[in-house]
Amino acid sequence: MQVPLLDLQMQYRTIKDEVLAEITDICESQRFILGPKVEQFEAEAARYCGTPYACGVTSGSDALIIALMVEKIGPGDEVITSPFTFFATVGAIARVGATPVFADIDPVTFNIAPEAIAAKITPKTKAILPVHLFGQCADMDPIMELARRHNLIVIEDACQSIGAEYKGRRAGSIGDYGCFSFFPSKNLGCFGDGGLVTTNDEAKAKLLKIFRNHGQSGTYIHQYVGGNFRLDALQAAVLSIKLKHLDSWTAGRQHNAADYRQLFAASKIGDRIALPQEAPYPVRHIYNQFCIRVADGRRDELKAGLQERGIGCAIYYPLSLHLQDCFRSLGGKTGDYPVSEAVSQDILALPIYAESSHEQRAYLVSAAEQILG
Ligand SMILES: *Cc1c(COP(=O)(O)O)cnc(C)c1O
Repeated sequence: MQVPLLDLQMQYRTIKDEVLAEITDICESQRFILGPKVEQFEAEAARYCGTPYACGVTSGSDALIIALMVEKIGPGDEVITSPFTFFATVGAIARVGATPVFADIDPVTFNIAPEAIAAKITPKTKAILPVHLFGQCADMDPIMELARRHNLIVIEDACQSIGAEYKGRRAGSIGDYGCFSFFPSKNLGCFGDGGLVTTNDEAKAKLLKIFRNHGQSGTYIHQYVGGNFRLDALQAAVLSIKLKHLDSWTAGRQHNAADYRQLFAASKIGDRIALPQEAPYPVRHIYNQFCIRVADGRRDELKAGLQERGIGCAIYYPLSLHLQDCFRSLGGKTGDYPVSEAVSQDILALPIYAESSHEQRAYLVSAAEQILG
C-alpha cells in the first residue's frame, strides 16, 4: 500500500470540469491581472474569514511583507515572533529590514507563548507576529491585551489556518492583519502561488491595495513605494471554486484526526507517541498538519521506517529558526528557546488530507508498531 503525505489528484478530479471551464473563460477574455475574478474572490474570502476587507496578493510570504510595509516597519524596528514556524514568517521581517525577536512556544499548541512575548517587549518593538501553526490558533486574547498595552500592531500569520477559530472568531479577524497563503499544500490551495491579507480597518485595506500595485494611488501617481504583489485572475477563479468545498474538506481532516486518535489509542505504542493536542481554550482546529511527537529519540528511525514502507511523512520543522545560519547575526544559540528546540527534535507530520482512507491510517499505525515495537 502507498500512503502519500499529500495527494491532490482526488480533490482535483471533483472540481476539474468547473475549474477548466473557468480557466477557458479567462483565457478567452485575456484579462489576467486583478479585475472582477479577483474582486469576487476577495469578497468571498473576506466573508469566510469574518472580516470586512481582503486584499489578494502574490503569496503568503508577500502577504506578510506587504502588511509590514503598510505599517512602515523597517530598520531599527523589532517584531516579536515564533522561532518554530515556516521560514517565511521570519524571512518577511528580515526582508523589510526589521529585526526578528523570538519568543518561545507553548508545548501544547506549538504556538508562541504570550508570557514569553511579554518578556521580549522593548521600546523598539513595533509589532507582534503570532503564527497559527498546523491549523490551530495561537492564544490571541493575551496577545491582543499586550499589544493594546504597548501600542503594538498585531499581524496574524494564518497561512496554515484559513477557517480556524479562536473562541468563535476566525483566524485573521482578530489582529490588525491576517495573512494567508494559497500554496498548493495549504488547506485552500491554488494552482501556483497566491495569498491574501485580511483586515477590519478601512484605511489599512485601502493602503494594502495601493501597496500591492507599486504604491499607485492614481494612474502613474505613486504616493508610496510598494511592489507588484497582485493576485491574478486565474488563481482567484480556482480559489473561488475551491472555497465552496473548504468546509467539507476541513471536516474530512477533522474526521481523519479523530480516526488517528482511536487507532493510536488501541495500538501498542500509545505511550511512545504524543498526539497533537487541542488548546485549552475553545478552538476550531483545521488540521493543516497532524504532527505527533516521538519519544526516546526515535523520530528519525520512525520516519525512515515509514518511508521504507511507502508511507509519506515529514518534519515540520527540523531546525528552530534562531539556529539557522542566515539568522546567526541575531545572536541566537542552542538553549535559548528550549521548547522550540525540543519539538524540532521529535516532531513528525503524518498524512491527514481529506481523501486519505481509514485503511491507509490503519496501515500506518501498524507499521509504526512494527518499527517502534
Ligand atoms: C506557507 C507559509 C507561509 C508562506 O506562504 P507562501 O505562499 O508559500 O509564500 C508563511 N508562513 C507560514 C506559517 C506558512 O505555512
